[in-house]
Amino acid sequence: MPIATVNPATGETERTFEPLTPGEVEERLNRAAAAFERYRTTPFADRAALLHRAADLLDEDTDTVARTVTTEMGKPLAAARAEAGKCAKAMRWYADHAEGLLADEHPDDGDMRDSGAARVLVRYRPMGAVLAVMPWNFPLWQVVRFAAPALMAGNVGLLKHASNVPQTALYLADLFRRAGFDQGCFQTLLVGSGAVEGILRDPRVAAATLTGSEGAGRAVAAVAGDEIKKTVLELGGSDPFVVMPSADVDAAARTAVTARAQNAGQSCIAAKRFIVHTEVYDAFLERFSAGMRELTVGDPMAEGTDVGPLSGAQGRADLEELVEDAVRRGARTHCGGQRPKGLDQGLADGFFYEPTVLSGITPEMRIHYEETFGPVATVYRVADLDEAVSVANDTPFGLSSNVWTGDAAEQERFVRDLQAGGVFFNGMTASHPAFPFGGVKRSGYGRELSGHGIKEFCNATTVWFG
Ligand code: NDP
Repeated sequence: MPIATVNPATGETERTFEPLTPGEVEERLNRAAAAFERYRTTPFADRAALLHRAADLLDEDTDTVARTVTTEMGKPLAAARAEAGKCAKAMRWYADHAEGLLADEHPDDGDMRDSGAARVLVRYRPMGAVLAVMPWNFPLWQVVRFAAPALMAGNVGLLKHASNVPQTALYLADLFRRAGFDQGCFQTLLVGSGAVEGILRDPRVAAATLTGSEGAGRAVAAVAGDEIKKTVLELGGSDPFVVMPSADVDAAARTAVTARAQNAGQSCIAAKRFIVHTEVYDAFLERFSAGMRELTVGDPMAEGTDVGPLSGAQGRADLEELVEDAVRRGARTHCGGQRPKGLDQGLADGFFYEPTVLSGITPEMRIHYEETFGPVATVYRVADLDEAVSVANDTPFGLSSNVWTGDAAEQERFVRDLQAGGVFFNGMTASHPAFPFGGVKRSGYGRELSGHGIKEFCNATTVWFG
């Protein structure tokens, strides 16, 4: 894949970049190793001051960086601005909380005496340079979600961003540099995915984190496994959105539209499968389809656009294949199912797709098990709670889940039985710096955000005094 900015709204290649030469990669790895030796012993207060400065700069840059993001991957400008704001908030959260999260732990007195120790503590020490292989869908957030805790823990970062967001990738390295971090603390490596294996095998790289597809996760985890290096993987998702009879169906349908169509449906935690109790099925399907139909698809730079283009031609082709396969095998289309007509002339070659609702899904259809990375929803009718749980879990993925019910006993059952890294009641899944984020099954392993996330790339060191 060439490293280039291709505007998904127009299909035009706006800028191309040469990948780093092996010598340039070597230079950056040396710089990272040297920076780590200096940076790992810096006090939390110094790291926090730098990260606060980065957050302030990002706030100042919001309008320009949002335009870059929209140009490179097509999300509506307002959403790109919101993403930048969310990043600044996460930076501040980690700047303010990291020291507490990583404070020494002291085993209780009984356990300590039992071990023969006079004193024992657990100290969270940084590991070194962490390679972050990141995707384009939230090109600021996915990176900051890794970088803020990594930098606060005393690690340094090497970013291999998706090849279609090079300007956003360069912006991020520049942001941390302008904030005052040593240049080696956070570097962007403009390289293709073929260069990842060599970088990950390099002894100067301690660990890796990847957000993206199952295939990319498998490739990186295999190399890391061979090198005995720690990884965190955040891969795809096909989150269920269950609606039970006690739900506020209007609110559920409204939220369902946002949960499915945000970021043109290109979100790992977007609700993708809508599993609706038969008592409220017709009402939900009608309101949900109406809401999806009303969304404005168009120029992501224009105010009022809800759904921009998909990020690339391949992503749209993959989505079209899934829909065509489902329809050929008997799925019913309630809205969408095609490319939009009548867009402005300048957008004719953009990668747009209409918000789509399908029902009558069966396990023979690819869409039943595969992730739809675009604004396409599948709706299932279920008879009771047991069937809802069974359909919800009938997926290789297990990222998050959404359930609409006011019944406390039902809520307990879903918490007990849903195979997912999150269960969100009467709302939609969203990440927050204070809550762990990650999945089970093929959605990956490890957690980002919160105390769980910052400790993933720390060496929890037992310190024992006789
Ligand atoms: P990829 O998984 O291919 O890309 C994500 C990152 O991984 C990019 O930086 C990419 O680099 C890199 N990468 C890809 N293959 C390898 C490899 N073999 N070794 C090392 N690094 C690799 O995502 P796509 O953009 O191709 O999207 C495909 C599908 O992935 C989507 O339809 C969706 O299902 C899923 N996805 C999930 C995301 C999530 O948030 N969980 C985000 C994005 C995609 P490069 O760009 O240079 O190829």
